[in-house]
Amino acid sequence: MGAAALSVAPGMLSKRLWADEPIVPDHSRDNMTDEQEIELGKQFGEQYEKEVSIVSNSMIDDYLGGMVRELAARSQRPNMPYYIKLVNTMDVNACSIPGGGVYLNRGLLELLGSEDELAATLAHEIGHVVGRHVVNQMARSFQARQMLKPVLENLNKDNGVVQQIILKLGGAVAMIAMLHFSREDEAQADLLGFYECLRAGWDPHGFVKEF
Ligand SMILES: [Zn+2]
Repeated sequence: MGAAALSVAPGMLSKRLWADEPIVPDHSRDNMTDEQEIELGKQFGEQYEKEVSIVSNSMIDDYLGGMVRELAARSQRPNMPYYIKLVNTMDVNACSIPGGGVYLNRGLLELLGSEDELAATLAHEIGHVVGRHVVNQMARSFQARQMLKPVLENLNKDNGVVQQIILKLGGAVAMIAMLHFSREDEAQADLLGFYECLRAGWDPHGFVKEF
């Protein structure tokens, strides 16, 4: 490693991440309870997995699942039912859904150069759950089509209505693609993830290359 690389990395890090960990609100914008968020995530995840192909490999699942558990346990919202699944697509992307599900695309996994970068990616997605960005944005998507009320009313009824609404809005993959996180949300997810990585023992310099 040359001297230039050594002098650049800490500079970038301090410029981008010279900030305390943000304290996240303890409720969602629409006062959705954690239980409602978890149930929405369950139904949304079911629909999402009908639309994509999941890679099922116990070694990969254990490895990624272990990382997500480590990071989430050291987040400000450790009690959500986090999980991770690997999606068999070369699209370079990852996303999280309400309740703590994380979907990592193979295309992104294969691009990452180190475990620290992978930890940074996962921690950022967990950060969107911790900051309630994903549940808030999804509630807005439903609200924009006057669908939030029927979603909340049918969450625990197991009658297929929530899935029908998701399909009416274009499907789970399309809904995720249309979520618009603000720059503040992205910066907060970075910072939350940075501190999750730090506490879980991964080098948060993974963030410098990633973002
Ligand atoms: Zn993000």
